[in-house]
Amino acid sequence: ESVVNRIAAGEVIQRPSSAVKELVENSLDAGASTVSVTVKDGGLKLIQVSDDGHGIRFEDLPILCERHTTSKLSAYEDLQTITSMGFRGEALASMTYVGHVAVTTITEGQLHGYRVSYRDGVMENEPKPCAAVKGTQVAVENLFYNMLARRKTLQNSNDDYPKIVDFISRFAVHHINVNFSCRKHGANRADVHSASTSSRLDAIRNVYGASVVRDLMEIEVSDENAADAIFKMDGYISNANYVAKKITMILFINDRLVDCTALKRAIEFVYSATLPQASKPFIYMSIKLPSEHVDVNIHPTKKEVSLLNQERIIETIKNAIEEKLMNSNT
Ligand code: ADP
Ligand code: MG
Repeated sequence: ESVVNRIAAGEVIQRPSSAVKELVENSLDAGASTVSVTVKDGGLKLIQVSDDGHGIRFEDLPILCERHTTSKLSAYEDLQTITSMGFRGEALASMTYVGHVAVTTITEGQLHGYRVSYRDGVMENEPKPCAAVKGTQVAVENLFYNMLARRKTLQNSNDDYPKIVDFISRFAVHHINVNFSCRKHGANRADVHSASTSSRLDAIRNVYGASVVRDLMEIEVSDENAADAIFKMDGYISNANYVAKKITMILFINDRLVDCTALKRAIEFVYSATLPQASKPFIYMSIKLPSEHVDVNIHPTKKEVSLLNQERIIETIKNAIEEKLMNSNT
C-alpha cells in the first residue's frame, strides 16, 4: 500500500518546484501578507515556506496530512470549489510520502504555537508546544529520499532552483499585496524580493525589471454581453519594442497560476502574424470566469487547464491583442 501511495504522491509532487508552488498556494489561501521561501540543494535537501497567515488549529493537526479527509473538505464553502480546483487536499499528504514534513504553526490569540512532523500521512509525534509569532512554517526535507531514480534525475538535470524562482516571480506579479521573498539557504541576498504594492506595474518592475515595464501595454477584455459565458481578462502585454528570445506567459485563472497551452500558442501566433519583426512576447493575464467553466483535471499537477467555450474565449483574447498591437505599431 505504501508503494502505491508513494507513486501517487510522486505524481502530485513531481519536482521540488511543484512542492514550492503547493506550499505557497496554501500560504496565500491562509491569507498571508508575507511569504518567505528558503531552498537548499534545489529543494532536494530543504524547502521551507513561512507565512503570516491564519495558522492551523491544534485540532486540525492530526488530520492535516491525511489524503482528502472530509473534515478538511468541510472547510470549503461549496462543493463547486472542490470540483473546479480538481481533487483537493492531497498536496501536503503527498509530500509526507516522498519527504519529511515538519509544520510549525500558531493561530490567532494563542500564547504559543505547535510543532509537529509527519511521515506517510500521519503525525510522527504529538504536537509540541513551541514559540511562534504568527502563521505557519512548513519545512520539507529530503524530498524523494525514497524515490532514488527521481532523485538522481533531479540531481543530474539542472537544479530546480530557477523554476522555483520563476514560480515565486509569477506569484509576486499577481498577488501584488503580498511580500514575497525567495532565497537559497544561507544566502544573504534574496533572488526574488517583492514588497507589497498597489501597482501591478511596480510589481512587474520589481521582479522583471524596468526595461520590461517600459514596453508593456495594459489590456482588458470581457464578453459580459454573451449569454452563455462570462469572462473577464485584464493584464499587460509587450509591444513591438520588447526584446526576448522566448515567451513569458504569466497566466492566472480565478487567481490560480495555471498553464493553458492552447491560449499560449494562439498568443504567439498573433504576435508573429501582427508584428513579424518583434520578439517573443511578455504576457501577464488574469482571467476570471465561473469556476465550473474551468477544468483542471486533465493533468495531475493541476497546472494545465482547459476551459468551457475555450475556442471562443481564445478568439476574443486574440482579437483584443491584435487590435492593441496594430494600434501601437502605427
Ligand atoms: P488543499 O490546499 O487542497 O486543501 P493541502 O494538502 O495543500 O490541500 O492543504 C491541506 C490543508 O491544510 C489546507 O486546506 C489548509 O486547511 C491547511 N493548510 C496547509 N497549509 C497551510 C498554511 N500555510 N496555513 C494555514 N493552513 C494551511
Ligand atoms: Mg493546497
